[in-house]
Amino acid sequence: MAKATYSCPSCGKTITVEGRNRRDADRRAAWYAEQEKLCRACEQAEFKRAYETEKQAVLASADGLPVLTGGTDKQNDFAAVCRARFLPALEAAADATVEHAERICRNRDDRDQAVAEVREAVSLLVREIRETGDIDFWLDTVGPSGAARADEILLKAFQPRRHDLAPTFMRG
Ligand SMILES: [Zn+2]
Repeated sequence: MAKATYSCPSCGKTITVEGRNRRDADRRAAWYAEQEKLCRACEQAEFKRAYETEKQAVLASADGLPVLTGGTDKQNDFAAVCRARFLPALEAAADATVEHAERICRNRDDRDQAVAEVREAVSLLVREIRETGDIDFWLDTVGPSGAARADEILLKAFQPRRHDLAPTFMRG
């Protein structure tokens, strides 16, 4: 192991970089310096600043959504951030679900009814999810990266009610 150093572009602190050998360590230090990679403390401060900015934007534009309570202020705010990140992905998942239903029902005689049920069902589920004030749902089920699992979360809401919400579709 060899070590090399460069200065944090923000606070000037000396940052030590390890490499397999002298050349590797020097190359890494040069690369990080060029990328303006911050020291850990500055990186965390930067992350916190970005989160604060996002949070202020989220809280300023609650968009008719319920105010989230039930946790500490910090948890309530974080739940609102998770929700704001998630809802656009949920809308996209809903559209994709309807398109999927259209595709798989293409050759069915009852396709109009079946697809209409799916469209109704997902729009109901999206509305219910948007309106949920349960912060555990936003913090645990959705979380900060729930957008990546929007399809899965929508499907999970649909599954137990699929025979009620889309009986024609399910009969096919
Ligand atoms: Zn720094």
